[in-house]
Amino acid sequence: MSPDVGSSKSLPNATPCLSYWQRTTRGFPYLFEHHLNPVPETSKYVIIGSGISGGLTAFSLLEAGVKAEDLIILEAREAASGASSRNAGHVRPDAFRGFSAYAKVHGPEQALKIIANERLVLEKVDDFVKKHNVQCDFNLTTTFDVCMTEEFAKYEAESLAAYGLAGGDISHIKLYEGKEAQEKTRIPGAVAAYEWPAGSSHPAKLAQFLLQSVIEQGAKLFTNCQAEEIKRNGDRWDILTSKGVVTGEKIIHCTNAHAAQLLPHLEPYFRPNRAQAHTLVPTPAFASKNALQSTFSLRYSLHHFYSLIQRQGDGTLVLGVSRSNPTLSVETLASRFSTDDSKFNEEIAEDALRSFDTLFPDFHLKQARHGEGLQDAWTGIIAMTTDSVPFVGDLGDGQYICAGFNGHGMARIFTCAPGVAKLVLGGEWSETGLPECFEFNQERLARLSNGELPSIW
Ligand SMILES: Cc1cc2nc3c(=O)[nH]c(=O)nc-3n(C[C@H](O)[C@H](O)[C@H](O)COP(=O)(O)OP(=O)(O)OC[C@H]3O[C@@H](n4cnc5c(N)ncnc54)[C@H](O)[C@@H]3O)c2cc1C
Repeated sequence: MSPDVGSSKSLPNATPCLSYWQRTTRGFPYLFEHHLNPVPETSKYVIIGSGISGGLTAFSLLEAGVKAEDLIILEAREAASGASSRNAGHVRPDAFRGFSAYAKVHGPEQALKIIANERLVLEKVDDFVKKHNVQCDFNLTTTFDVCMTEEFAKYEAESLAAYGLAGGDISHIKLYEGKEAQEKTRIPGAVAAYEWPAGSSHPAKLAQFLLQSVIEQGAKLFTNCQAEEIKRNGDRWDILTSKGVVTGEKIIHCTNAHAAQLLPHLEPYFRPNRAQAHTLVPTPAFASKNALQSTFSLRYSLHHFYSLIQRQGDGTLVLGVSRSNPTLSVETLASRFSTDDSKFNEEIAEDALRSFDTLFPDFHLKQARHGEGLQDAWTGIIAMTTDSVPFVGDLGDGQYICAGFNGHGMARIFTCAPGVAKLVLGGEWSETGLPECFEFNQERLARLSNGELPSIW
């Protein structure tokens, strides 16, 4: 474990707990790929990080014609052991809620693009899964943003109005109020609910598909291989790892919450935050034909919410929690600024279950039989950035970055990683199709350093 536990200038914790997603994919043949082998002396392309960002960047590079034997991926722990295999399973675009907050920081035009990009990602994931027949339990459905207080219903109504007025497309969003919201969502306390298209997946299976595909084409993954430092060597880069030194021409940092370990000048802009999720086995009221068909964000306020999906196959419910729930103790709230994903927090788990029981009384959680109810709890590390959008782009001299997904990677990576692959191969930013505010450049850093881009959350 790095001593600098709350900083993005850190290496991933060496003893992470296992998530539900990891527990159900222990047979992945490349989990410990090359874990005992030294890295090669040279490799033209070196991707650091084997999450969905690293895997999809590699996939995109090979698809664009890069020779697989010219590419290696370095991973500090087992394959895809970061946030990509620890999340809450939602592939859920923000349809309008974040618009006003993004507009304050990045301006309305960029805010519209940020929201449009998330909608595009859902389409991209759906297309990719179908095209490559990815067995990642992807379920294209709808999602409900459920307002649990009058105050939050007002906030959502204002956000939707502001988004629509600015020219945002709201034709795919439905609003239900009062009794209708309660019936649609099965939540007796719902004040209002907004519904729009979204999906869920088994994120570890998606990450593993990407890795398996590039490995079977000839790329090499080195697990248990920490990249500790990077140094200029002529016109190339030496990456000092726990398995030797590899010299590369093009280095792509897909290290999310740990980006500043190798890029210390980025430390002020990346903040690791520990997030927690849980699985529940359904009681009969939520099993079989009674399973939930849509996904949920259950919101008491902007900062106090729960996310919920129910898997179609095994019926497992995945319950995520917001990181700044004001009902938690000061100690628990402070403990989220950490890169330690070795355990979960009991108080957060208790709150999540209590809230779930209140939200869905007909689940009858208290009457659950042995084997029903809480099954698993785990943590993972989210990378928050100071202006709440990812860093994608050219760092200069052959280094690139695709990181900082602010807890929304599943709704962002499927455009960002193909985008960074285009830049690596000499493309212009405009070819990425990404919102300009995602681009890594000195001007953005300068504005962040001067406090001109205030943090949203
Ligand atoms: C509990 C939780 C719930 C979440 N829920 C959702 C959700 O429902 N929907 C959603 O969109 N997003 C969610 N997220 C966020 C989402 O999981 C991330 O945005 C996404 O997985 C980021 O992918 P990535 O590939 O960039 O990073 P990661 O998956 O974290 O991959 C980075 C990899 O780099 C490796 N690494 C880092 N530094 C080094 C180094 N120096 N040397 C070698 N390897 C290194 C790490 O070990 C890791 O495997 C959640 C996250 C958590 C933790």
